[in-house]
Amino acid sequence: MPMPLRQSLRVGSYLMRQKLAGNKKFPLLVELEPLFACNLKCAGCGKIQQPHTILKQRMPVEQAIGAVEESGAPMVSIAGGEPLMHPQIDVIVSELIKRKKFVFLCTNALLLPKKLDKFKPAPYFSWVVHIDGLRERHDESVCKDGVFDEAVAAIKLAKSRGFKVNTNTTVFNTDTPQTVIDVLTYLNDDLGIDEMQISPAYAYEKAPDQEHFLGVEETRELFRKAFADGRRKKWRLNHTPLFLDFLEGKTDFGCTAWGIPSYSLLGWQKPCYLMNDGYVKTYKELIETTDWDSYGRGKDPRCANCMAHCGYEPSAVLATMSSLRETIRAARGNLSPLAGLAAAKAQNAGPFAPRRRDPRSLPASSPLPDSLKSRCAQTPQPGKRSPSRGNPAGSVQHAFR
Ligand code: SF4
Ligand code: SF4
Repeated sequence: MPMPLRQSLRVGSYLMRQKLAGNKKFPLLVELEPLFACNLKCAGCGKIQQPHTILKQRMPVEQAIGAVEESGAPMVSIAGGEPLMHPQIDVIVSELIKRKKFVFLCTNALLLPKKLDKFKPAPYFSWVVHIDGLRERHDESVCKDGVFDEAVAAIKLAKSRGFKVNTNTTVFNTDTPQTVIDVLTYLNDDLGIDEMQISPAYAYEKAPDQEHFLGVEETRELFRKAFADGRRKKWRLNHTPLFLDFLEGKTDFGCTAWGIPSYSLLGWQKPCYLMNDGYVKTYKELIETTDWDSYGRGKDPRCANCMAHCGYEPSAVLATMSSLRETIRAARGNLSPLAGLAAAKAQNAGPFAPRRRDPRSLPASSPLPDSLKSRCAQTPQPGKRSPSRGNPAGSVQHAFR
């Protein structure tokens, strides 16, 4: 499904204005994290390891809107923590929409049924639900039974009320081409998801379950096999053709981390939401004080295995926009050249009691490897300080949701 015309035109004209103004660096989408608290305890999560004093905080509406306005970005992806735990999340969303920002609200969907009446379907608004796999894989990934079924029920409810619903799926090295095929086919064909996004997990160095992140070659091979036999064209993937080529290893790019900056309770994060080389108060300061040329694969060892779309999808978008051939290819492939910028990440979470659906309505899950089953045993203790957050030496932090 192509990016809606309104969004394509608005973001396209924004890009044109940046070009005409001679701006070398500008945000395409802001990652907004108005809280770190979450209702899940996923293995490897650094967000919930924040000190209790930070976990209690909720970003004031004015601060969230002020940051987005200062940056000038046309699109905002709201994540966390679990954004639906923010008591004024609906106000943040409606204030951004009033300012004609395209808003992607990333959630595990488990609070969605309870909060749905606070939102209205709008051309500027999409839900983005995190689904890591079919039932067994997803529930293992979020370390809680029943989350997949709750998320699926919430997706159906939101769609029945006329909302646009996208998904984001993180791919780990415990995935196989078949598990990727299974989940994307289910989301595409059975659930009728509007647009699906995929994210290779990022191997951040302090993650407790370091072994489950994909390396570059592994990522390329996995996506080459998953996309084969016409599946890539059949699925409604929310990515540019060039980014999908990049995932398959057919092309390569430098990192454009300034294209998707991240703003949280701690400030603007240098250089991207995957790494923590410090925080600054303003977007201007972020752009001016970050040594952007020192990041990316081949430059910083922490970036060695990164193929995350917060760094490389903006590169693909800018390459597409600067090439008539690629723009036509994107249009022919039924994809906007601006696709994929939305919803740079999403969350999982879920406080509700498990409610099993009829397993016959789902394709059979591939068996889980023992290594994945053991991930939850490695879940960090809530309230424990992240080993990377606030580290002035700039270690890599929580990254894969
Ligand atoms: S971690 Fe990835 S997105 Fe962030 S600076 Fe490194 S290569 Fe770019
Ligand atoms: S859903 Fe995201 S923020 Fe919440 S515990 Fe899981 S990884 Fe952390």
